Amino acid sequence: MEDAKIIDGKAFAEKLRKKIAQTVVTLKNEYKSVPGLAVVLVGEDPASEVYVRNKGKHTLECGMESFEHKLPENTSESDLLELIYHLNGDNKVDGILVQLPLPKHIEPQNILDAIDPNKDVDGFHVTNAGRLATGGDALVPCTPLGCLLMLKDRFGELTGQNAVVVGRSNIVGKPMAALLTRENCTVTIAHSRTRDLANICRAADILIAATGKAEMIREDYVKDGAIVVDVGINRIPAPERGEGKMRLVGDVAFEEVKAKAKAITPVPGGVGPMTIAVLLRNTVEAACRRRGWQFPPI
Ligand code: NDP
Repeated sequence: MEDAKIIDGKAFAEKLRKKIAQTVVTLKNEYKSVPGLAVVLVGEDPASEVYVRNKGKHTLECGMESFEHKLPENTSESDLLELIYHLNGDNKVDGILVQLPLPKHIEPQNILDAIDPNKDVDGFHVTNAGRLATGGDALVPCTPLGCLLMLKDRFGELTGQNAVVVGRSNIVGKPMAALLTRENCTVTIAHSRTRDLANICRAADILIAATGKAEMIREDYVKDGAIVVDVGINRIPAPERGEGKMRLVGDVAFEEVKAKAKAITPVPGGVGPMTIAVLLRNTVEAACRRRGWQFPPI
């Protein structure tokens, strides 16, 4: 039986992808063109290859154009920059995603800084971070935007809620806090130097955990009836599954926190599955903005 407390990221991602596909059909009818996403992979990291394949597959399934660029491990930084400049100038490309991590000899920041901010569908460019922080039209990092879309889908209006974001990274914690502020939440950002973290977390109506520390948010960090979003993905030993086996857990001790929470995202199956769907959404948004198309809210 379905558990009413669980926020199902897989189901949400599916719903989002359907909406994106419908929007692409509308755009195609209206403007005789579809958004395009370029994904760049350097090297042969097996996990990255799977991500890139999935991104390409979902892009095509949503009716958009997908451009895959696979470069050898020994590609120089200047050759990679050349490709980025080429994609910046290619009118069929609305979104550019460079799969991280990059090989050690390439400085990722140099590459991310070279992407046209209007094609920066990962939302990592400093221009987009600045636009988000100052209330402008930003392309927003996929994971925190997905968390927000999922919260609004399930709970509607968030105005006036006390939100605590544990983690202050540029790709999750900070943009998450900025998005919740934009939704009129009262936001606290906590991090590794925060004093009495449990007490601060207990004030949260909405608690977002993005620390990368397995199951660190315990039952005593959560007030009764809180909404808990677990961004963390941690691999821990699972001897019960056999020698050397591992399993995935979040930053939240799921079972004990679930008993107190009003709603909670599981790991796996919560935040993770909707990241690619939000990437596609951002590609549609980038296309609409760049090409002057009407952007139907997704
Ligand atoms: P970072 O390592 O960049 O940031 C972690 C943040 O957590 C830092 O701000 C750090 O504080 C804070 N932190 C660490 N330990 C503690 C602690 N004991 N108490 C309070 N705060 C603490 O990680 P990311 O933001 O990139 O990712 C966070 C998690 O989310 C990871 O598990 C990652 O795998 C996952 N993730 C999942 C995604 C998805 O699609 N579901 C996408 C992106 C990330 P300080 O700044 O003081 O060091």
